Amino acid sequence: MGFTPISLDSYVKKHLENNPSENEKDLRKRLNSALSDYHKRVKCSCGNDIWVIGSAAVGNSCFTCITGESYTKDDYEIDTAIKKRENIKGRRHIDEIDPTKIAGFFDDDGYEINTDLIIKPNMCLTCVNDDNPNEELLCNMTRYDQKDDLEFICFGYEKKIN
Ligand SMILES: [Zn+2]
Repeated sequence: MGFTPISLDSYVKKHLENNPSENEKDLRKRLNSALSDYHKRVKCSCGNDIWVIGSAAVGNSCFTCITGESYTKDDYEIDTAIKKRENIKGRRHIDEIDPTKIAGFFDDDGYEINTDLIIKPNMCLTCVNDDNPNEELLCNMTRYDQKDDLEFICFGYEKKIN
């Protein structure tokens, strides 16, 4: 499962190439409206997140309800509507925190990351850097960056000898 991310401008360009009769202004207006609904957490009637690109054409619905397919292989989705699917409820935004008290780390959108919730790959348990407090932040960032990847890759990995 996974959309191919595309920027709004690249998508508009691509779409106009394939559909020369489409009006660019109109297309952008529909995409922006679906995108803003997505960010307002408007859902499909089935409860899923809406698929912005498809919704711009047929009205707010999710990928499955629009295409009848249960998952996407290589369909496009506007990049800013992909990364934000994780739950941000209860997480503080960097702008809400007293600047003298900022510690820990934050995702690209500025939300605080609770390091306790980062899953530790099994590989880490056999690494010399495991439980080294000086490496912990770096390790967590490496894990967090790859949280959606199927395979975990770490260049800091060194096998523990025991
Ligand atoms: Zn749906």
